[in-house]
Amino acid sequence: MNRNGTLSLTVLGGGGEVGANAYEVSCCGVRLLLDCGTHPKKEGPETLPALSLLGRPPHACLFTHAHVDHCGAAPVLGKMFPGIRGYATDPTVILMDRMLHNSVSVMEALAREQGISSYPLYDHYDVNYFIRHMTGVAFGCPFFLPAPAPVEVSFHEAGHVLGSAGILIQFPGHTLYYTGDVCRKPQFLLGGARFPRRNIKIDTLIIESTQGGTEEGKHFPFNEETDRFARAVDRVLRRGGCVLIPSFALGRTQEMVNLLAYLQETGRVAPADIYTAGLGRAIYEVYDKFSDLLKPSAWLRPLDMFKRMGNVVAEPGEIRNLLAKPCIIVSTSGMMLPNTLSAALAAVMTQEERHAIFFVGYLDPDTPGYKLLHGAPGDPVSFELGKPPVPKGPAEVAAFRFSAHATRSELAEIIDRFEPRNIVYVHGDPDALAWMRENTANGCTSWVPMIGQTITLEA
Ligand SMILES: [Zn+2]
Ligand SMILES: [Zn+2]
Repeated sequence: MNRNGTLSLTVLGGGGEVGANAYEVSCCGVRLLLDCGTHPKKEGPETLPALSLLGRPPHACLFTHAHVDHCGAAPVLGKMFPGIRGYATDPTVILMDRMLHNSVSVMEALAREQGISSYPLYDHYDVNYFIRHMTGVAFGCPFFLPAPAPVEVSFHEAGHVLGSAGILIQFPGHTLYYTGDVCRKPQFLLGGARFPRRNIKIDTLIIESTQGGTEEGKHFPFNEETDRFARAVDRVLRRGGCVLIPSFALGRTQEMVNLLAYLQETGRVAPADIYTAGLGRAIYEVYDKFSDLLKPSAWLRPLDMFKRMGNVVAEPGEIRNLLAKPCIIVSTSGMMLPNTLSAALAAVMTQEERHAIFFVGYLDPDTPGYKLLHGAPGDPVSFELGKPPVPKGPAEVAAFRFSAHATRSELAEIIDRFEPRNIVYVHGDPDALAWMRENTANGCTSWVPMIGQTITLEA
């Protein structure tokens, strides 16, 4: 057992990468797992965090939000440790249910179409089993975990997607704050992050670093970026083209379709149908159910304002019909991973000059989205596994900064606000993590732990 106040942290995933986030923390004989995600770019069992490093079952698993890089491996954890309890905010529990069932369907399709024999890593029954063992909690309401020592936990709005939270954990003698994915500024629908009271002394801060590698000058104020985006979308529609906006199903999709509807209502974007697809729509219903958690000024438009897109991957003829007249398509995946709707559409759209593909979120350098944005005309892009790459065509490609992650200076502000004794930087590319550690640690004890590493943190 640890000395009172000493906390040990083992990184199972998300160390030195934006990957399968999972961090085991233990203090005073209480072992907790923070997030349990899957790696979005890997395949098969490689997507999982290093769960074999968990010698004994954690007393609980706490989830920051329902993006799969934070919760995608939860059903595997439930199979390893039957009966393990999960905690998250009320919307996150419902969103996890939808995201994880979708993951099963995606894995089943990959097993069928790509012959990945290890898929699915879990089935719909495993998802239901895990979700039944979850407790939903309200933002800002502290509660004690059932554990051998009194550990108080509370969830605080992170401003990233609906239900997203930073987690405050007060062990006897050691207080920890884990930001999860955090967005400081308000988005179109969601308000910015809110933090625990200032008089709570934080010993250890675990902070995400996604944007740590992006220079400050590359961020623009929301209104300016919205103007630039509106002008670009309008121009494409007026020349008879279609606009593809690859977006995460959770968060970015709901934000973008409402922003686009507002831009059309105010005459800044030409009238045209806005299309969304299955999972984005299923999640939209959860946004509707918890619309009281959006900004007071936000108006979530009725879902039926947006057209449902058919299965364009299975039916190639559908793509031609869809692109016959100007429209806007907001579809997964945001990074245009191979074999997703956005990749299938982009493979066709890139060949025609009238169309445009506008990225609005983080792009990992290894993804087709990144290659399409930064490649030269004619460069090969692999939109579909097992098929020859498609050369980048003449369609317009651009990126707009609507990130749901805090900028460098906002991350630095969060650190200054908490004045922690220890800072642990996670969830970033190596460059981003290195920059953050060098420029924001302010003499605190700082760490950039790698997967498999255990660090000891004193209060
Ligand atoms: Zn996220
Ligand atoms: Zn994340």
